[in-house]
Amino acid sequence: MDCLFCKIVNGQIPSNKVYEDERILAFYDINPEAKIHVLVVPKAHIESASEINQTNSNEVAYIFEKIPQIASLAGITNGFRVITNSGLDSCQSVMHLHFHILGGEKLPEHIR
Ligand code: AMP
Ligand code: ZN
Repeated sequence: MDCLFCKIVNGQIPSNKVYEDERILAFYDINPEAKIHVLVVPKAHIESASEINQTNSNEVAYIFEKIPQIASLAGITNGFRVITNSGLDSCQSVMHLHFHILGGEKLPEHIR
C-alpha cells in the first residue's frame, strides 16, 4: 500500500523515533509546528479518525494510554495538546491515523 506512515512503520522511510512497541510508533514531525511536535500512529493502517470503529478502537485507546509517557520521553514537562485531523476540511495530508502531540512551549490559546 502506498502509505507514507505505513512505510515509516515498516522502516522503508526513516524517522526520528521517540517510542516504539509492537502496536504503535511515535516519531518527531518533520515540519514542527511547536517546539516539541511528535506524531503517534497505530502500526495497523487506519485511514483517519472517521474510520475508528468497535474493532480498531482498542488501538486508539492504547495510543492514549501511552501518550503521557511519549510526551515525557520527548521532553514535554508542562502540558501538551493532542490533535488529529480527519478528512478534507481538516487538511489531513497523510491518510494514516495519527495524533499530533504539541508542547515544549506555551501554545496559542486558539487553534484558529
Ligand atoms: P496532517 O496534516 O494532520 O495529516 O499531518 C501530517 C504530518 O506529517 C504533518 O505535520 C507533516 O509535517 C508530517 N510529516 C510528513 N512527512 C513526514 C515524515 N517523513 N516524517 C515525519 N513527519 C512527516
Ligand atoms: Zn498506512
